[in-house]
Amino acid sequence: MSNPITIDGRFWQANSYLVNHTLIDAGIDPERIIPYKYQIKNIVLTHGHFDHTVHANEIAKLTGAKIYIGEHELPFLTDSSLSLSTHFGSPQIPINAEPLKDGDVIDGFTVFHTPGHTGGSICLFREEDGILIAGDTIFPEGSYGRYDFPTGSISDLRNSVSRMAELPVESLWSGHGEPVEAGAKAHVMLSKRNLI
Ligand SMILES: [Zn+2]
Repeated sequence: MSNPITIDGRFWQANSYLVNHTLIDAGIDPERIIPYKYQIKNIVLTHGHFDHTVHANEIAKLTGAKIYIGEHELPFLTDSSLSLSTHFGSPQIPINAEPLKDGDVIDGFTVFHTPGHTGGSICLFREEDGILIAGDTIFPEGSYGRYDFPTGSISDLRNSVSRMAELPVESLWSGHGEPVEAGAKAHVMLSKRNLI
């Protein structure tokens, strides 16, 4: 078991994380994954916002990897107003992805459907060492994702964060900012408390 490799998001890009054969999120510049080109077999998108997905097609082409996203998030991949691509001055470039369902396991991680930031957001959790990859659902220091974008919902977010707070979380890897490499359960509990 080893920690994810962080490929930090620059400017408005979300972080990507590489663990085993899976790259999580694809907002980073494609040339930055060249050193890992033969390692990446899956690209998992935590949700459909443009800053997490914009380079998915190019990275898939470079690596031959398959792209996955939560089943309820598929409409984001062809819709500029859902993906917020127009905020970034670009039309949505259609992305072909396979749907992931709550409870699916991909490369050792269990998929949790965690609506709130968006309706089809997912978190990934690995039981053995407590790694939680949280997209824009949970951030360190008791923070959490915005819920005022299309399909967002504060009550869904509350339920999702509460659900994650039940897990034996050891480390937290969010879509933006620095990861928390140990003792992250306290951060998740604080996010839960701040949402009540
Ligand atoms: Zn987002």
